[in-house]
Amino acid sequence: MKKNKIVIANWKMNKTVSESQKFISELINDRTLKNYKNVIICPSFLSIMSIFTECLKNNIKLGAQNCFYEDIGSFTGEVSPIMLKKSGIEYVIVGHSERRIKLNETPDIINKKLFVALKNKLKVILCVGETKTEKDCGTEKSAILNQINSAVCGLKEIDLLNNLMIAYEPVWAIGNTNANVDPMYAENMCAFIKDSININFRKKINVLYGGSLNSKNAENFLKMEHIDGGLIGGASLDVKEFSEIIKISQNFYIS
Ligand code: PEP
Repeated sequence: MKKNKIVIANWKMNKTVSESQKFISELINDRTLKNYKNVIICPSFLSIMSIFTECLKNNIKLGAQNCFYEDIGSFTGEVSPIMLKKSGIEYVIVGHSERRIKLNETPDIINKKLFVALKNKLKVILCVGETKTEKDCGTEKSAILNQINSAVCGLKEIDLLNNLMIAYEPVWAIGNTNANVDPMYAENMCAFIKDSININFRKKINVLYGGSLNSKNAENFLKMEHIDGGLIGGASLDVKEFSEIIKISQNFYIS
């Protein structure tokens, strides 16, 4: 069956519980949208359960923006993959560059999070992306390969990878509407990521693009053959803008 390109909202540390509920009710009342089967929303931990029932009723999937790498125990402030899974949350973002850079999340931590999230049967959106310096030095591909290899290191149970997708997010393009990423550049990087997973694991996985996607440029990225969808930060906070992006995504299918 043909599947529409995937659209994921990463709300980051935005929206109170009532703002999250208002957003969802406005989104599902938008009669111009046909279905939400390809839509995943990643709100804060506080908001996530408050919109759970409405999202479930409308085929909108939910993801967490983070999780810890242990199932249970004395880890004040953390939320475990098992808690997410048992609450009915399907997805989790792991390795977002803001957590790598601003919260000192190391490759080792990301590897542990990925493993425990996959072991608990969550679907993982693993974020990778080069910095501006790496791009300027021409080392973007090796930077990406290093991030992927360290994240999946030790994942011998290949079946775990069935639940993995990768979001290619060049760090220099996140939250930077002036970055003007060439969609062909993103396409080539996504194709490169797919090929390397294919060669190493004999697996076909979905690869998304993220970095200042909005309703004006979404079509240019989502029409690309190797870009299976978008991870959207800033533009996912505005319901009209986000619903425009969903509409655009529904014109394109994962190949
Ligand atoms: C992100 O942080 O995942 C992201 C893609 O942000 P933005 O769309 O704001 O660049």
